Amino acid sequence: MGPMPQRALLYRRPSEPSAINIVFDRAVYLVRVRRHRQARRYTLRIHSATREVLLTMPPRGSLRQAREFAEKHGGWIAARLDRLPQPAPFAHGTLVPVRGVDHRIAHRPSARGTVWIEETHERLLCVAGEAPHVARRVRDFLKHEAKNDLEAASRKAAATLGVTVRRVSIRDQSSRWGSCSTTGVLSYSWRLILAPPFVLDYLAAHEVAHLIEMNHSRRFWRLVEHICPDLTRAKTWLDVNGSNLHRYGQQHARR
Ligand SMILES: [Zn+2]
Repeated sequence: MGPMPQRALLYRRPSEPSAINIVFDRAVYLVRVRRHRQARRYTLRIHSATREVLLTMPPRGSLRQAREFAEKHGGWIAARLDRLPQPAPFAHGTLVPVRGVDHRIAHRPSARGTVWIEETHERLLCVAGEAPHVARRVRDFLKHEAKNDLEAASRKAAATLGVTVRRVSIRDQSSRWGSCSTTGVLSYSWRLILAPPFVLDYLAAHEVAHLIEMNHSRRFWRLVEHICPDLTRAKTWLDVNGSNLHRYGQQHARR
């Protein structure tokens, strides 16, 4: 099951902004706006993994009414976001797990280089350069590390099963940790680098096994278990901690 049918019903007029800002209690919230071919009224929902606020409106609705609707429900938006895991923006002082181990982001504006790890009394993720670039640099670094680890884990799993991985791509998808195309391209969420290595290894085993079995049959799970005997531990870890990984790199509502 994919999100395709829903996507076909959602659209935006070319001249329309994709999002509006609303203010509630002195905080600014970004609200994404979409029209839905079958919508009769204005609705709001929160996508908990990404903390995105989505407003759906009828085909003939107006942006002015959409804004009024979102502003009227500003209290609801604020309360719902408040109940979600608090965002951990990539900024000086934030604790970020790398391969399951906490690292504190340390901004070093006058240092040379980009991003590197230092181990003093605590593990530091040091970032050079100006403050506005810190978040992007941390994200780029984590994506790069994720790609290295996931490529290595995928190739190792593929060698065990005697199959070939065409390509490994790293994405920022919130709906799934990994996927496997019929053409042999494996895609993974970069956030797996935040999880302990046994979780990343399990995901690689899972997607590589799909190169042989494009389903979740018994035979598929036997293949996964063959590469990754620890799969129950990894699946449990993801069930318990997976949604928490989405809070890293997210911004707070602006005040
Ligand atoms: Zn699967």
